[in-house]
Amino acid sequence: MSIAPDTTVVLGHRFATELPEVALRWQAEPTPAPRLLVLNESLAIELGLDPAWLRSPDGIGLLVGTRLPAGAQPVAQGYAGHQFGGWVPRLGDGRALLLGELVDTKQRLRDLHLKGSGRTPFARGGDGLAAVGPMLREYLVSEAMHALAIPTTRALSVVATGRAVHRETTLDGAVLARIAASHLRVGSFQYVAAAGDLTVLRRLADHAISRHYPAAARADNPYLALLESVIAAQAELIARWMLVGFIHGVMNTDNMTISAETIDYGPCAFMDAFDPKTVFSSIDSSGRYAYGNQPAIAAWNLARFAEALLPLIADDQEHAVTLATAALQDFSKLHTASWSAGMRAKLGLGENVEDAVAQHLIEELLELLESERVDYTSFFRRLSRGTVEPAFGTWAARWRTLDPDLASMQRVNPVYIPRNHLVEETLAAATAGDMEPFNRLLTVISSPYDERSGFERYADPAPDEFGRCFQTFCGT
Ligand code: AMP
Ligand code: MG
Repeated sequence: MSIAPDTTVVLGHRFATELPEVALRWQAEPTPAPRLLVLNESLAIELGLDPAWLRSPDGIGLLVGTRLPAGAQPVAQGYAGHQFGGWVPRLGDGRALLLGELVDTKQRLRDLHLKGSGRTPFARGGDGLAAVGPMLREYLVSEAMHALAIPTTRALSVVATGRAVHRETTLDGAVLARIAASHLRVGSFQYVAAAGDLTVLRRLADHAISRHYPAAARADNPYLALLESVIAAQAELIARWMLVGFIHGVMNTDNMTISAETIDYGPCAFMDAFDPKTVFSSIDSSGRYAYGNQPAIAAWNLARFAEALLPLIADDQEHAVTLATAALQDFSKLHTASWSAGMRAKLGLGENVEDAVAQHLIEELLELLESERVDYTSFFRRLSRGTVEPAFGTWAARWRTLDPDLASMQRVNPVYIPRNHLVEETLAAATAGDMEPFNRLLTVISSPYDERSGFERYADPAPDEFGRCFQTFCGT
């Protein structure tokens, strides 16, 4: 006799209850013909959800927001943001909904959120919809980031809706179910701060502290401690992006989380040849969000976060500015420390190697990588097998004298990343109805350090003609 799985899903509404001022009660649009394209079974289990049930009509109904458990209070979240440096006072979830919070099997509170679930009062001119291709893209890249041990929101599922979405062409609509530690953004604080009600701002900050940085509550100045905690966590996050060659592409303040999880995979991409000026996004013509600019942009965004928090940091605003400025000045030191430690690990350098020696070696390597236009990811993997191209011979001879640990290098230098040409190829197949290439790519990027025979082409750089003109698109 089989025991029926417990399909009771409990969706909390802590955010909606604690912050009604920025939580607009709303419903997902009906989906004419929902069809599950991909389900993250291991994540479902981690969340205490039964994968078999999620594949049933009721389960799919949850994944598109049309069949919710009793007591659920789905909301569109309000937020503001600086987009490409320009202030936008009202953004918010135009095509997204926070369905509620789940308590996972490790007792952590996780947001269940939908993207592409229809227009909300924040939609402005948008249609509230998302297409299959971009939602599968977010699924693939966020899962790759997770497998690379980089903090990120996760993808639980993509469901094709059966609704047509009109872009340059007519596309199939889709809803992505996303899991996050929370959806609080720098822009959430900017939105509340701009409204000028200090009690709401304090409630938002207390909510963030309780969910993400509980130790800050015990500090002498909890709101300064919140700022310092976010600065430290973001400094580390951006270092991890840089170490794997990840380019977010649209680091607006509304796309930067307080939890320091990577969020909103739009025009993101992994760099091929090492070049700090690399930009893929079609809308980033000035290169504001280029690979090499990411640390400086993160620091700029954190300064906007600090501004929003100023009234809570001290009553005397001059004093608050002094405290916040000191906290912001730590970003660069923290970021560089994380990045240097990560680079030492990529090069297999032990603790016996002096910092000055390591730093010099790293600087020379970056110069060589840039001038030789070498593929960033595969260079480090080859190095972990002890081989390099001739142009790196002199450099490598010095590196070898430091007795690098090749085995440890193979645990931190990935073989497989979601390379742009592979992502495009799998999305083209998926939108034509063939999920097989997507599933194959998902398999390799989910175990990025394990070399597999038969998957050699997934480790290779893009053919030259692909890399030169590749562009990614935002908001599609
Ligand atoms: P993003 O660039 O995806 O971070 O989105 C920026 C803002 O535009 C957010 O407020 C989104 O909710 C909104 N937005 C993006 N695409 C759409 C759409 N198709 N319909 C409604 N709102 C959208
Ligand atoms: Mg966004």
